[in-house]
Amino acid sequence: MTINWGLLQFGVFLSMFATLVVAERIWPRRKQAVELVSRWSANMGFTVVNALTGTVLHLIIPVVAVAAALYAQDHGIGLFPETGTPWWIAAPLSLAALDLTLYAFHVACHKVPWLWSFHRVHHLDLEVDATTAFRSHPFEFLSSQILKLGVIYALGTPAVAVLAYEILLNIFAMFSHSNVRLSDAFDRNARWLVVTPDMHRIHHSTYQRETDSNYGVVTPLWDRLFGTYLAAPRDGQTGMTLGLNEVRGREAFNLFWLVACPFISFKSLGKHEDATQVPATTSLHTTA
Ligand SMILES: [Zn+2]
Repeated sequence: MTINWGLLQFGVFLSMFATLVVAERIWPRRKQAVELVSRWSANMGFTVVNALTGTVLHLIIPVVAVAAALYAQDHGIGLFPETGTPWWIAAPLSLAALDLTLYAFHVACHKVPWLWSFHRVHHLDLEVDATTAFRSHPFEFLSSQILKLGVIYALGTPAVAVLAYEILLNIFAMFSHSNVRLSDAFDRNARWLVVTPDMHRIHHSTYQRETDSNYGVVTPLWDRLFGTYLAAPRDGQTGMTLGLNEVRGREAFNLFWLVACPFISFKSLGKHEDATQVPATTSLHTTA
């Protein structure tokens, strides 16, 4: 049973990744000037690093989470089992709770300096495509996993909801980072339900006031609800600069430097250099 869940997840992951890579070649949103081999080497390297640390292997993560949900279910642990909540109520509430938790964690990663020191590794990519989804420091993945397990045990989330969310998470992490051009109409309508590439790309802008927006992972609901939604970047989707101003050189693709940088450059943490460069007239919502 466990192996089947893993194979299902792995199949979804590979299919989605392959589809996006092909789509990025046929319908690219931005012309990417950064050398692809260097970027991909670093980003794919993070998949290996995280797999080796046992925190991020996309094949295993959902199994761990689903196993936790099954354990909680069998032992009556959590709010839903203890209150006898029917699964058709518990399942959608569980999906919402898991996604809200990751939204809140993402906001915290930008607001708490020591969390930002790890999360900024993700933002140091100088372009954004499907492989950027893999580019996360192992500590950040470990932290998000612990948080999710906490939600699963606290609520007693149905296993099917956890599996569904893990699959959605993998799909939309890659989709929202992809360099795929969608029609304006599709993008505008899809944004009411899911995070689109044009929406999440704004979060990777070098302008901090744009980086401080669109934190959502699967659904934009939380950004719209909590005032962190931003519809468009100041310089446009093709004109905006991605990454962080503090690192524009080869370090951005050096896997070893990236893994170590939270520990060796703590003094330079904090706000980006151009925090005040966006005019007040820009349509912008900031977090509290
Ligand atoms: Zn971020």
